[in-house]
Amino acid sequence: MHTASVGVSKLCFLLSVALCCLLLLLIPALQPPPQVDRPQPRPQVRPGQSRPAEVSAGAYSPGKRPSPLKLSGGSVNEGELVRAKPTQAAKTGPFPRSRPLDKLELKDIFIAVKTTRKYHKSRLELLIQTWVSRAKEQTFIFSDGDDKDLQQRTGVNLINTNCSAAHTRQALCCKMSVEYDKFIESQRKWFCHVDDDNYVILPSLLRLLSSYHHSQDVYLGRPSLDHTIEAAERVKSDGSVSVKFWFATGGAGFCISRGLALKMSPWASLGNFISTAEKIRLPDDCTIGYIIEALLEVRLTHTHLFHSHLENLQKLPVDTALDQVTLSYGGFENRRNVVGIGGFSLSEDPTRFMSVHCLLYPETEWCPKAQAGDRS
Ligand code: UDP
Ligand code: MN
Repeated sequence: MHTASVGVSKLCFLLSVALCCLLLLLIPALQPPPQVDRPQPRPQVRPGQSRPAEVSAGAYSPGKRPSPLKLSGGSVNEGELVRAKPTQAAKTGPFPRSRPLDKLELKDIFIAVKTTRKYHKSRLELLIQTWVSRAKEQTFIFSDGDDKDLQQRTGVNLINTNCSAAHTRQALCCKMSVEYDKFIESQRKWFCHVDDDNYVILPSLLRLLSSYHHSQDVYLGRPSLDHTIEAAERVKSDGSVSVKFWFATGGAGFCISRGLALKMSPWASLGNFISTAEKIRLPDDCTIGYIIEALLEVRLTHTHLFHSHLENLQKLPVDTALDQVTLSYGGFENRRNVVGIGGFSLSEDPTRFMSVHCLLYPETEWCPKAQAGDRS
């Protein structure tokens, strides 16, 4: 009897030990998947496809952005490159994280628009009439002259950078330097830069940035080239070595998290941006890429949601146009390079920005009133 009860307790003991072991083994499997809060990795360029950097320091004319890649068969625009070689973002869908990590609001974003006095009428007014009107508190317009009339009439935040009005590398870097300092001062979570020929689709921007956290190191944008550029390393060394890095083209817009922007400070704040750009002799958007990729070793997250007029905008599928983060138009060389979206006639709305705006915000007073029976 006594021996039997000892046997039973031994058995019970062994069973509970086995149960504990089983539970210990199961713990990792039972845990919810970790909240991955790192930005998307840089797309992998297959060895056979990687080409030596063709654009090196000093290769650009001052202030001018590199034009679309030229291959032996002629000019290839960004849209075609994108189709030929999908990036990680394209493979995983436009919005990589389904679970928002950051309850982000529009007021958390600082949107800097770069402009110049001569474009206040021809370019800026259109932006103010359209997307800027929906984000007046968030948008800061960086120009090179005062415009009290525009400011009073529209109530926009117009900042006179006192930079030169020339389209030179120095003048453009001067503006970027002021943009950076104002962003840091603003205490906002995200810095986004656009040109005055960009339409910002605010709901998409908010959705994209909500996929990340502002305290992470996030640099989001679209390269205009399908390869890195190269610059002589004159910041950390004497220029005898060169560095290769990606940069997001300023003409399509890009965004930087506050966490990363703060780390850029030694090379970007209080005029340091201008001296960094001078050292590598590259335009403003390349200098941003240089500081982030080459100096801070943070990778650019390539996204196809930003668009400049360096790509063929006609090729953008119309049914995805409103999901994009930025759009653009034209360019000197091709006034018809616009998104093929319907709405106003081409003569009324040559940029298509008004048509896009009315699709996003049909209640706007100057948008055509929906007819009874129309799909709203
Ligand atoms: N820009 C400027 N100063 C100038 C000319 C242009 O600040 O003298 C700005 C312009 O307002 C725009 C950006 O630089 O935001 C790019 O200009 P543009 O679109 O004319 O040239 P891109 O580089 O796109 O061909
Ligand atoms: Mn442009």
